[in-house]
Amino acid sequence: MNHEHTIPVDFHCHSTNSDGTLSVKTLLDTAKANGGKYLAITDHDNIDGVNEAKAYAQEIDLTLLGGVEISVTWENNSLVHILGLNVDETNPGLIANLNKLSNVRIERGQKIAYKLAKIGIKNAYEGALKYCANEKSLSRTHFNRFLVEHGYAKPGKAFDKYLAPGKPAFVMQQWASLGNAIEWITQSGGTAVIAHPCRYSFTRTKLLRFIDQFKQLGGRGIEVISSAHAINDVQNIAKVARDHELLASVGSDFHTLETGYRTIKVGVNYKLPEICQPIFPSFGINLPH
Ligand code: AMP
Ligand code: MN
Ligand code: MN
Ligand code: MN
Repeated sequence: MNHEHTIPVDFHCHSTNSDGTLSVKTLLDTAKANGGKYLAITDHDNIDGVNEAKAYAQEIDLTLLGGVEISVTWENNSLVHILGLNVDETNPGLIANLNKLSNVRIERGQKIAYKLAKIGIKNAYEGALKYCANEKSLSRTHFNRFLVEHGYAKPGKAFDKYLAPGKPAFVMQQWASLGNAIEWITQSGGTAVIAHPCRYSFTRTKLLRFIDQFKQLGGRGIEVISSAHAINDVQNIAKVARDHELLASVGSDFHTLETGYRTIKVGVNYKLPEICQPIFPSFGINLPH
């Protein structure tokens, strides 16, 4: 991507509390070293990293927002991710609801391992767990690492070969409903934001139907800048955000320092297109122009 300017904001990244490879402390140090000032840690379906990060963020003068990326099943079989930004990471209702999704992760992991065993790949559950700090955040990313490092797939190919929808070890799972995810976020003081809208391969009609429901249920934002977005995706979603009055957010979706398909460094992002209304001021963050 050829963007001229960067901003010191990153509202989407992962730690070892989900499928990232950096500990919370190293993640914060890296964001800071990259020039970051405002960060939301958004692990999949848990907010443990935010609680862990609070004191250290203050120590190194990084402004930390509470964050989470909730897995949602929409219209029966579409998996979408909803970010909760500025949530209260101590909110008992939010923690209890997210814990239900952690149980789903454990069950789903067992089913993935069972399917892998059926095609001759043994001990995948234990194998994947070795890459995962806590069983409750077990992710397909950990199975991906197990499969690659044990020679069952070439680097970057385990999703296409085993783990993606339609492949032999894919397990269809009920995650949160869209309404529940938005409710959990808003009742804990947060703002619901659609993560990486161009990752879902939705038709335009489906994307607009999704946005319509998302807004009716209380959602307010959309990621315009994302590592998953090519430059034409950014321009397209910027217009969608403007036309549908959604606040524009920015996220590296950082997972690891190893090179991969995610290109934005943790802690910083490209500047939003002028036509967008940035989400930052709603969190009291006013960036100089
Ligand atoms: P899960 O939430 O456990 O189903 O895992 C989904 C995670 O896997 C996403 O958050 C991404 O980090 C990662 N992922 C999904 N699709 C791919 C892919 N094609 N290649 C690499 N990583 C992927
Ligand atoms: Mn992930
Ligand atoms: Mn995601
Ligand atoms: Mn993510």
